[in-house]
Amino acid sequence: MPKPLDLPNATDAVHAGAVRERPHHALAPGIAQTATYTFASTEDLRRYLEGGDEDPDREEYGRYGNPTVREVERRVAALDGAEDAALFASGMAAVATTVLALVRAGDHVILFRDAYRRTRKLVTVTLARLGVTHTVVEPASIDALSRAIGPRTRLAITESPTNPTLRCVDLARMAAVCREARVKSVVDATFATPHNCRPATFGIDLVVHSATKYLSGHNDVLGGSVSGSAGLVSLVRELRGVLGGVCDPHAAGLIGRGMKTLALRVEKQNRTALAVARALEGHPAIERVHYPGLASHPDFAIASAQMRGGGGVVSFVVRGGREPAGRVVDGFRLATIAPSLGGTETLVEQPAIMSYHELDDEGLAAIGVDPGLIRLAVGIEETSDVVGDVLGALAAAGQLEL
Ligand code: PLP
Repeated sequence: MPKPLDLPNATDAVHAGAVRERPHHALAPGIAQTATYTFASTEDLRRYLEGGDEDPDREEYGRYGNPTVREVERRVAALDGAEDAALFASGMAAVATTVLALVRAGDHVILFRDAYRRTRKLVTVTLARLGVTHTVVEPASIDALSRAIGPRTRLAITESPTNPTLRCVDLARMAAVCREARVKSVVDATFATPHNCRPATFGIDLVVHSATKYLSGHNDVLGGSVSGSAGLVSLVRELRGVLGGVCDPHAAGLIGRGMKTLALRVEKQNRTALAVARALEGHPAIERVHYPGLASHPDFAIASAQMRGGGGVVSFVVRGGREPAGRVVDGFRLATIAPSLGGTETLVEQPAIMSYHELDDEGLAAIGVDPGLIRLAVGIEETSDVVGDVLGALAAAGQLEL
């Protein structure tokens, strides 16, 4: 019998890490919309700076901390099964600050080929400029990761599931290989969400989310987070105070509000995405469906062992390539053409002409993206409406001689 997954539930999404007693007996958290904090006297300031203040959460200045942000950080840490978390102004602020906090000139970083394009740019361009070398390895291959580790390797970073083909990394193996070589493991679990998978519970050192996506869940705010041990998170938080990518209190309030419905939304998105994937598999206009909840996916076994559901993104390749796929995208009536994922609205995009528009077919092949691939990020609409929209878009494109 497989071990039951150690995952948070709907009650945790509402309550874990949340403050129970608030000023004025308010139920909902207020937003501490302040850039700085006051001190009653020089003595008060001195006591605070020497660590003698009785309030451990007292803050000095908004770039270093904020009570609204802090509560959301505790809630993210609780959902991720980690000791602590830090919140950022965007997912990329979280990724960049985390990576920069861990490496120095002369170090070596391992990155998987299907990394989010800005993470790839951070490692291959920005870090390279700072004297940090890298090796890019095959998606989801822990053997390749193991082979790439050298004496100066400091960090290995991947997503799981990845974008857009939803490869899932064996997290326990990745954690073990990295731990043995004293390499820090970082997993961007944006596509998984803590509702579906908690990399920290498999031994991954740091877990990143673009909170812009499922955590906030309403396509109305940017944010990011990193969770892990108190020691590592405080290292990242320290650099956040230098680089300045802090989360605004109002944005933190929106992220915290969105997180309350994380379980409800992600459950629905898991169900709808699986229904879409099943409806597409075997469809005459479709060459291939990528969804980790389908037995045909290369990582189905790993995903089944470490995830509660396959998540809310389905990718599929339309027969005929770039042009017919574009016509299918134009045939959607419910889904909107937009980048991003994880919100209440279903979004559709063709990576070859949106996220990777600058790449030719050869460049796309190098990162494993088919020109005819469409990525559907399902929202929380009725499952039958979303499935109907996809089939309707294919039918409409068929009328245009697919
Ligand atoms: N990580 C993943 C997997 C993403 O898909 C994205 C954004 O699309 C990011 C990080 C960056 O997040 P943000 O857009 O919030 O900076």
